[in-house]
Amino acid sequence: MKLTRFALLLFFISQATFAQKINKLIKESEVNRIISTLASDDMMGRDSRQPQQIEKATAFIANEFTKIGLKPLKGLNGFRQEFPVTKIEGFEKAEIIINGQVIPKDKFVLMSDNEEINWSSNIPVVIVGKDDNFSPNQYMKDSTNKIIAVDMAHASKFAGIQRFFNRTRILTSSSNKMAGNILFVLGINSVDSYAIKIKQRKEAFKMANVAGMIPGKSKADEIVVFSGHYDHLGFQKPVEGDSIANGADDDASGTTAMIALASYFKKLKNNERTLIFVAFTAEEIGGFGSRYFSQQLDADKVVAMFNIEMIGKASKWGINSAFITGFERSDFGQILQKNLQGTAFTFHPDPYPQQNLFYRSDNATLARLGVPAHTISTDQIDSDKLYHSVNDEVESLDMQNIVATIRAIALSSRTIVAGTDTPTRIDKSTVK
Ligand SMILES: [Zn+2]
Repeated sequence: MKLTRFALLLFFISQATFAQKINKLIKESEVNRIISTLASDDMMGRDSRQPQQIEKATAFIANEFTKIGLKPLKGLNGFRQEFPVTKIEGFEKAEIIINGQVIPKDKFVLMSDNEEINWSSNIPVVIVGKDDNFSPNQYMKDSTNKIIAVDMAHASKFAGIQRFFNRTRILTSSSNKMAGNILFVLGINSVDSYAIKIKQRKEAFKMANVAGMIPGKSKADEIVVFSGHYDHLGFQKPVEGDSIANGADDDASGTTAMIALASYFKKLKNNERTLIFVAFTAEEIGGFGSRYFSQQLDADKVVAMFNIEMIGKASKWGINSAFITGFERSDFGQILQKNLQGTAFTFHPDPYPQQNLFYRSDNATLARLGVPAHTISTDQIDSDKLYHSVNDEVESLDMQNIVATIRAIALSSRTIVAGTDTPTRIDKSTVK
């Protein structure tokens, strides 16, 4: 971008005025209050699969939106954007007798979305011998019921599917249903008789994003999204007596940034475009929240998405710097860089391309629809020992880094919010 000296002067004056306002309106004490609440033990690690363990966080964020004075999204009465899911978690009953022998828990895996199976005859049997090729994935799409007897030689592959199917699984209305019921049994080489009664523990409940907006003054049809995910991993294996994964950096920090930006823009009252602020649920378990969100609006109207993930610790370049994932996919990053010229803060392209961070957060869901949707982060993901551990706590965070990054997002987003800059679209065909 070329500017005459006079235009450059005006640019820096307006930038300085903005920066002053930003420092006044985005305060460290507020940031501290919000993130300390979200990452407190009281919030139980915000596990989206356990409604009673995330509810407090949902209510807290909704209450922040009320205090700020955001408006609910169109069609909603409040800030909760709820959607139904079904959870499959363990067995109510599992009696498996094959060739007269009781099969213990660690020797079978059920691949099924159904509640109950009851087999005593006419079920096809597949024998996978020690020299046969065993590829469990091929059965995911199989629509017939089967008993698959797997030789001990395949024990490690068997353990892999066991790990996957023994986890709590979430089904949504848009998730691919497994067509058949497949029972894998390890360590047998023939099936002469069987009596199989299984009842999976299934529970229907609602997950909730928390979303609010500030209508645009003159370009209300053009939407800018600010987001972070508020769910985390809940209870984990205890380490030195601590079992709560507080997710202070991941992603209470991004959620806090989103709330602080909502408060800032509400007080500023001059956004020409409509701003949507959203705390996504279920990012950690497959991005169900952002998927539902993306289906409730017209992605063509979303001109940019600022997704914020893990800004709690200084980046590899030190404080006053952050990176943007998928930098080369649109000119979003260049616009932000331009708007920070002359300040101490710099944005960089993602320095960890091998980590695939562009695909590891909620931005990817909107990018698939063509939205210039990027994640802003400062995490040194290649060496962050606290990532996804019970030690990701508020005490480990650098509050100044968080505040500086939020202020930089406020300053660098101003021309997009004002409708004078529009990032180029992401080419959908290049997003997996
Ligand atoms: Zn995260």
